[in-house]
Amino acid sequence: MKPVETDVLIVGAGPCGLMLANELGRRGIRVILVDREATVATAPQANATQARTMEHYRRLGFADEIRALGMPDDHPTDVAYFTTFSGHELARHKMPASRDAATFLRQQAHVWNGAELPHRVPQSLVEQTLCRKAQGLPTVSIWFETELEGFAQDDTGVLANLRETTGRAYQIRARYLFGADGGSSTVRKQLGIRYSGGETRQRDFMGGNMLSIYLDAPAFYDLKIPRAWMYWTFNRKRRALLATVDGRGSFVLQTQLREGEDANRMSEAEAGALFLQAVGRDLPFTVTGIASWLAGRALVAETFLDGRVLLGGDAIHLFTPTGGMGYNTAIEDAVNIGWKLAAVIKGQAAPDLVASYEAERRPVAIRNTTFALRFADSVGLYVPSPAIQDAGPAGDAARARAGAYLGSHAAREFTIPGFTFGARYDGSPVIVDDRTPVPPDAPSVYVPTAKPGGRAPHAWLADGRSLFDAFGFDWTLLCVHPSDPTVAAMRGEARQRGIDLEVVDISNEPVAMDLYEGAFTLVRPDQIVAWRGDHASADDARCVFDIVTAHAGARTVADVA
Ligand SMILES: Cc1cc2nc3c(=O)[nH]c(=O)nc-3n(C[C@H](O)[C@H](O)[C@H](O)COP(=O)(O)OP(=O)(O)OC[C@H]3O[C@@H](n4cnc5c(N)ncnc54)[C@H](O)[C@@H]3O)c2cc1C
Repeated sequence: MKPVETDVLIVGAGPCGLMLANELGRRGIRVILVDREATVATAPQANATQARTMEHYRRLGFADEIRALGMPDDHPTDVAYFTTFSGHELARHKMPASRDAATFLRQQAHVWNGAELPHRVPQSLVEQTLCRKAQGLPTVSIWFETELEGFAQDDTGVLANLRETTGRAYQIRARYLFGADGGSSTVRKQLGIRYSGGETRQRDFMGGNMLSIYLDAPAFYDLKIPRAWMYWTFNRKRRALLATVDGRGSFVLQTQLREGEDANRMSEAEAGALFLQAVGRDLPFTVTGIASWLAGRALVAETFLDGRVLLGGDAIHLFTPTGGMGYNTAIEDAVNIGWKLAAVIKGQAAPDLVASYEAERRPVAIRNTTFALRFADSVGLYVPSPAIQDAGPAGDAARARAGAYLGSHAAREFTIPGFTFGARYDGSPVIVDDRTPVPPDAPSVYVPTAKPGGRAPHAWLADGRSLFDAFGFDWTLLCVHPSDPTVAAMRGEARQRGIDLEVVDISNEPVAMDLYEGAFTLVRPDQIVAWRGDHASADDARCVFDIVTAHAGARTVADVA
């Protein structure tokens, strides 16, 4: 049988593969996405969609749909710490309900320089939306119950061997193969690529084999605890974390397995006993599932691609989920490679643009896994005084001390504009560096800057819109002098290359002008600043586009800097 032909074969319908299918499908690229399972994930798993991921959903036009999913819109997204849930509350980090997100964002614009706030929603619901959106694109086909068994590549493409659960085997010939097939990636293993970095650290929490217990427990709300998104316990018996799934009684309890405990052999009664231990008293509930996973890792693949075969998401980086970064980093991988693959396939960019994926994303994967592990250390290694459960002044003092620590930890782990907006691609071969200083990099602080290599800083426009809503879907030129010949030069160069360039006049937008500093700023389709300057001649414009589309050859950044 003749192989089925496509442009990009994506393996894995998790967040990374689904997002890539959307990015490519929106650009008219033919995509086949296969997954061996019958549906997208059904377990909630990731619960933190970070602000930058929400901005990408906004760019694709469905951020509001995602924000409407998950907990009721008046449910706070606080993170709260307790001895037991029927005992003492130690600390609370307040975050708004989804209906208040837009107002909160504008009030906190000095902290959150963004068009979106984070959102708390189960990964399963996000995946359903991403899948539905991709299925609605005419060039995208999604085939479940289809497993990739192996592949071979040559100079022009990849021949992949697939098998359906019915047993039917067939081949797909694609110009590129993208492995978004998770931590046990078949694609990565066939390429012989290994992870490197920190292995599991044993500690009492977030360091070793973790247990997820899925529960229906509406009676939890009878405890009359002010509502939160996450409820943590610290006590003499065992730490646990209870994450709200839907705000109506569905939860996931996470705790660490101790020696001799095995998630596969754990009965529902044993799992339920762990829940009641965290609650500190009896209440009705039903265990609906038990799963296990590994915490304490910060692993990054040694390389992200080999020829026409690329990898993304958990297939190239494994996180400890503190900070909620694994799925969000997977989404950014898909966003980074999506426009690049499309540009190369359409002939707008040189094939080397694809190689810049690793140059840009690998340092970010190392950065993000390191941030996540630091959060795991911060909460996992912290041991409060056993007196936190005692009555009287000694107990009060111990609780106050623990609360102060946990409150400040929560602010560091859960208000992370720097993590989500601050990743940079300095040193990338397809960025025109302007040699201005690199801003500081810390998870809880984002310094808005239009220095090339970073996310375009955000501004609210005079008419109340987000600057990002004025950007084109592909390239954008922000300009302060719309009649300067630079505009015609950049437009002409883009047109010749078949590149869509939206020109946005910000000369009447003082906030944006102040943020962007230069008279002209070229923003990539992934909203990363590629170049900025005060003027570009026709030659300069050619040179800029040569660099950012990897056609530069012998040219260097110095030619246009
Ligand atoms: C308890 C827990 C909580 C978490 N919380 C967060 C959080 O709050 N925020 C966050 O950002 N991250 C979180 N994560 C991490 C997040 O879940 C993962 O990083 C994310 O799922 C990775 O997405 P992915 O698309 O790379 O891979 P996956 O979601 O693993 O998807 C891979 C897909 O590939 C398919 N597949 C594999 N092999 C093949 C094959 N040979 N052929 C066909 N299909 C194949 C699989 O069936 C699967 O559907 C959490 C993880 C855990 C365990």
